[in-house]
This record gives sequence, C-alpha cells and structure tokens, in this order.
Amino acid sequence: ARPSAPSRTGGVIETFDGIAIRLSAIVNDPSELKSINPSYVAGIGLMRTEFLGNVFDQERHYDIYRQALDWAGDAPVIVRMLDLGGDKMELGVGAKESEAFLGRRGIRLLLALPEIARLQARALLRAAAHGNLGVLLPMITVPEELDAMRVIFEEESTTLGRKGVQTRMPEIGMMVEVPAAALMLDRFSRSDFFSFGTNDLAQYLAAAARDDQSVAALYDAATPAVCRVIAQAVVLAETMKKPIGICGEMASDPQHIPALMTAGLRHFSVTPNRLADIRSTIGGMYSDGRAVAEMK
Ligand code: PEP
Ligand code: MG
Repeated sequence: ARPSAPSRTGGVIETFDGIAIRLSAIVNDPSELKSINPSYVAGIGLMRTEFLGNVFDQERHYDIYRQALDWAGDAPVIVRMLDLGGDKMELGVGAKESEAFLGRRGIRLLLALPEIARLQARALLRAAAHGNLGVLLPMITVPEELDAMRVIFEEESTTLGRKGVQTRMPEIGMMVEVPAAALMLDRFSRSDFFSFGTNDLAQYLAAAARDDQSVAALYDAATPAVCRVIAQAVVLAETMKKPIGICGEMASDPQHIPALMTAGLRHFSVTPNRLADIRSTIGGMYSDGRAVAEMK
C-alpha cells in the first residue's frame, strides 16, 4: 500500500518579510530519491530523462516516472522530455560535434525523431494518471515547437484511449533557456508553466560553450545579463498569470540566490545535496534579495 502523503510545508520557506518561496529537487536518476525527504521539498522541479537508459524502452520510463510520483505523493513531479544533443547522449543521430549546442538538440531532435517523442509521450500520459505529473520541453525557441509536441500528446492520448489504456493529459511547460524565447515569453501563451535553464541561457547569451574551460570566465561574466533577462521574463510570466521558476545550476549556488530573488523568482529547483544550503540562505533573506544580516 502507498504511504499517506507527508506534509508539504517543508518545501515552502518564508523569507524574513513573509513571502513564500518554493524549493523543489532536481533528479537525474531515480536512485537519488532515496536520499531526499519528500516532506522537505515541494516535489521534483526537474527530472532529467537523458540518463534513464534505453530511450526506446517505454516500460522502463513509465516505471521510473511512477516511482517518482509514488515518492512525491500529491506534490508535483516535473519530468523533462529527452534533451538529446548538445552535451548529452547523442543516439548517433545528433548534430556534428561543432554544431551540438547550436544544432538539433532538445525539442528540435524530438520533433525530427517523432517515434522517440511519441514513445516518451505515451509513457508520460500513462504515468500522469497516477499523480501530479507535469511535462517540461527542452530548448524551445518558437511557439510552433510547443504546439507540435502538444499535437503528439493529443494523438497518442486518443490512440491509448481507444485501446482502453488509462491516461491523463499532463500540464505541458517549457524550459526558458534560449534567449529568443526568454525575450519573447509573452508569445508562449500555450505553455502551462515556465522554468529557466540558466546553464544554457548563460552559454547562449555569452556565446561561450558551457563545457569549454577556456571560455569559462566569459560564461561566468554573463551572470548579470542572465539576471536581467530573467527579471524581464518574470514580469511577462506574471502578466500571463503563468507559474515560472528556475532549474539551472545558478539556483543551487547560495552566492546567486540574492540576485535571483531580486529578479523576482519565487520557485527554485535545486540539486539534492545543496537543498539544505539554499533553504538556510533563503530563510535568512528578504524577498527583494537583501540578507537579513545586512539590515543590522
Ligand atoms: C539548464 O540548461 O540550465 C538546465 C537545467 O538544463 P540542462 O543543464 O540539462 O541543459
Ligand atoms: Mg538546458
């Protein structure tokens, strides 16, 4: 039997001026779930699926999504569709090495290889019937990519329904990690929610590859630009009344939390071993990013 859902209050931290901040976990592998207390987080804000093994094994993916949903109880589990290409697994069909980050990766590759996208959509549609599942699309640049993936979900849902398979249509949101999308967020009204991928947003804003040590200083120097783009996009999301959060590594670094709070972010998805650190950082701050100690 499934244990009753633990209290979720642990995943919400109040700033010194009483603003609620949500803290979620990032999970790359289901084995990490054992080490996270579900009552300590507001669910999973990013579950990467590039490292879950054979992308053609629908049952394996379904089982892993179910495992995460059972762990989370009624809290949200946001599963990101395969972000292949770039720095991740290639399947032998991705772009040339020199094009990896600027070529076909993420949603571009999913739409170019619809059988993989459809297989994952079926696993997600089935898992969604058993919990609070959301789907995140990687590397969205234009609204048409989101629309094309929605059509895939609709069609697969219809097909599964005809076969009598239990499904539910999950909320579908997008990573905000391509500058052209971040600046034009108001065009993405058909996205149910947004999540900043600052690892990519920084590399694309600075034109400095995230995995190239020789340009690491330029990558780091993009931080103020990243924060300015985030602040503008947060305003657009608020106008659209859509949830927006961050799942890039900046959110796992206490040093960056004040700037991200100043930019208006209220939902942070964090690497499991940084949760305690980030929790105490936020608990010692005002919602405008000032540390409590600064006021004394
Ligand atoms: C990001 O780009 O910030 C992100 C969270 O995704 P990934 O690191 O998997 O590209
Ligand atoms: Mg990314």
